[in-house]
Amino acid sequence: MSRKKIVDCVIIGSGPAGYSAAIYASRADLNTMLFVGFQPGGQLTSTINVDNYPGFPKGISGKSLMENCKKQAKRFNTIIIHKTITEVHFSSQKGGIHCIKIEDEENIVESKGIIIATGSSPKFLGIDKEKKLMGLGVSFCATCDGFFHKGKDVAVIGGGDTALEEASYLSKICKNVYLVVRKNYLRASKILQHRILKKKNVNIFFCSKITEIIGDNFLEGIRIFNEKTRTSQILFISGLFIAIGHSPNTELFKNKLDMDEKGYIIVKKGSTCTNKPGVFAAGDVQDPIYRQAITSAGTGCMAALDLERYLYCC
Ligand code: NDP
Repeated sequence: MSRKKIVDCVIIGSGPAGYSAAIYASRADLNTMLFVGFQPGGQLTSTINVDNYPGFPKGISGKSLMENCKKQAKRFNTIIIHKTITEVHFSSQKGGIHCIKIEDEENIVESKGIIIATGSSPKFLGIDKEKKLMGLGVSFCATCDGFFHKGKDVAVIGGGDTALEEASYLSKICKNVYLVVRKNYLRASKILQHRILKKKNVNIFFCSKITEIIGDNFLEGIRIFNEKTRTSQILFISGLFIAIGHSPNTELFKNKLDMDEKGYIIVKKGSTCTNKPGVFAAGDVQDPIYRQAITSAGTGCMAALDLERYLYCC
């Protein structure tokens, strides 16, 4: 195994946190390498319209926002690598060198500092056939797969912002959208609630949970159970969109960094410092509470500044 030149900053992840860190770090003249990972641009690339990111009065698509971030990082000479990282070794010494192993490569990259911005991934329901029928009717992304259900009936599971955004998008393409919510209220922000309540083809099933996915080779329907009336019914649908929240992408760092019980990386209050010197965490991977594009970008900026100060002190 050979070693490449030691860089100042390796960023793992390419969502708003990763790119903000890249812009700040490379603009500060740090030799910066960003690994985009398995979802270039992160989760935001599947968000139809980002309404609440300051600076875009008419909103902007998640994809365009992330493409702009990438161009901006490139302008300051961030080296962008379309590979994932398979192994990390973090030094415990202040000023120590961290090692990163890349997929399909013999070489390892060495870096003085690391910024982890690997984000989070959508949660599974954990019921039978959910994984088997992925791509055969079951989906986590309306923008990606909604088109296949044009003029048909679909269901969305969840009552948060993601679920309502998905339902709103699908309502424009599909005949009927069934929103299945386990509580008797929606958790989503009021503006999205108002938007969805106005849609004539969105039917909300409160106090309901999905008990069965029907179909062998492709999705044909779901059985839902109403906890209040204690009755169940079948909804015949061609698409099932699961939008029940996310889990942090921290598998790679298990037993290497301090994490909470849900797997979020623990950072020192008011900073992005992890328990390892020179290793910083930004975005959803360390944030179980806010999880917004703007807060991710903010902590990405903090991580680059924390890293710059760390290098200056070593
Ligand atoms: P949330 O955690 O906010 O919501 C998850 C929803 O799924 C809740 O209604 C929850 O129900 C339900 N749920 C969880 N587990 C299950 C299960 N096993 N079966 C059925 N239902 C389940 O996640 P989101 O992805 O919606 O949002 C994450 C963050 O991203 C939030 O902070 C949100 O504000 C933000 N976001 C913002 C957007 C925007 O501003 N445009 C767009 C999308 C996301 P319960 O309420 O009962 O727990």
